[in-house]
Amino acid sequence: MNTKVVMVEENNLDKNTIEEAGKVIREGGLVAFPTETVYGLGANALDEEAVKKIFIAKGRPQDNPLIVHVADFNIEFLVKEIPEIAQKLMKKFWPGPLTLLIEKSGVVPETTTAGLSTVGIRMPSNVIAKELIASAGVPIAAPSANVSGRPSPTEASRCVEDLSGRVDFILGGGVCEVGLESTIVDCTSTPPCVLRPGGITLDMLREIDSSIYIDPAVMKKIEGDFKPKAPGMKYRHYAPKAPMKIVRGELQKTIEKISEIVQNSIDEKKKVGILATEETKNKYLHGMIISIGSRADISSVGKNLFEALRKFDDAGVDLILAEAFEESGLGTAVMNRLKKSAGYDIIDI
Ligand code: AMP
Ligand code: MG
Repeated sequence: MNTKVVMVEENNLDKNTIEEAGKVIREGGLVAFPTETVYGLGANALDEEAVKKIFIAKGRPQDNPLIVHVADFNIEFLVKEIPEIAQKLMKKFWPGPLTLLIEKSGVVPETTTAGLSTVGIRMPSNVIAKELIASAGVPIAAPSANVSGRPSPTEASRCVEDLSGRVDFILGGGVCEVGLESTIVDCTSTPPCVLRPGGITLDMLREIDSSIYIDPAVMKKIEGDFKPKAPGMKYRHYAPKAPMKIVRGELQKTIEKISEIVQNSIDEKKKVGILATEETKNKYLHGMIISIGSRADISSVGKNLFEALRKFDDAGVDLILAEAFEESGLGTAVMNRLKKSAGYDIIDI
């Protein structure tokens, strides 16, 4: 398949390109596009055949549902009814990085929801995404635009790397603002429950409803035949090619432990990557050091995390060592992705 790649600018949007990409979606094709979370791989959410192509292009397991992206608040036709909590959350956080799970209506094919009775819906704030959905004239089902299992793309070049030849169109924009996938809230359970932490934090959600909580399964390793409520939780995710370990503890001790493991690995002729921060990057003497942002600004860490993992892939490191972050605020989402990337391999010191 020939993939057309066109770069557009958020603040100088080329309408013709958006219309061309919108037409591809309307006619049953696949378009990768930027959002404020990560790049998405989109198809007409209401067209079963189009949606099937997403699973094939990504190599995505068929029991992992897709999120439906909309450009306006008119979502009644997609759902049975909108629970009160969903209405409040939409009003407060849309457009933005928040996906709401609601009982679906008959117009949403089971392929889109992987056979589930609920559908995940989100209104992105990224201008390119919004214009694309509006231009397509249909809701767009879109998981992250990576080959299944790899770190999500936060830059257009990474979509090209993963999906060139597998999709019809790649709409390239800038670097994704948040860099982590959306927060998912199940609005069908009482109290409502977070199934994936993301850019909208628990504290922000609790300002709307103080009973909202994070599903305990979110931060733990899924073992045996336990079935999580968000099927995506059970898959190894966001994973770099090399094995990864998280070192957790007091910061100075963390630096010392990572340095010790780096030294041992170098003795064994291994190439090691270190996921460091602005505060710590100069404390390491050896290894491939990437600062993913400042501990004083956790949003910078979220924004740069996936791209750093891909840089380690490019460099062909044998091992990645990551410093841990506090599990509060956006740090919860950062640690959720780090733990999944590392397959929950954590060294506590
Ligand atoms: P991705 O867009 O690749 O980050 O994947 C979407 C995530 O949303 C997956 O982890 C899914 O399991 C989750 N998801 C989407 N729709 C639903 C749903 N109806 N019920 C539970 N989880 C969902
Ligand atoms: Mg994904």
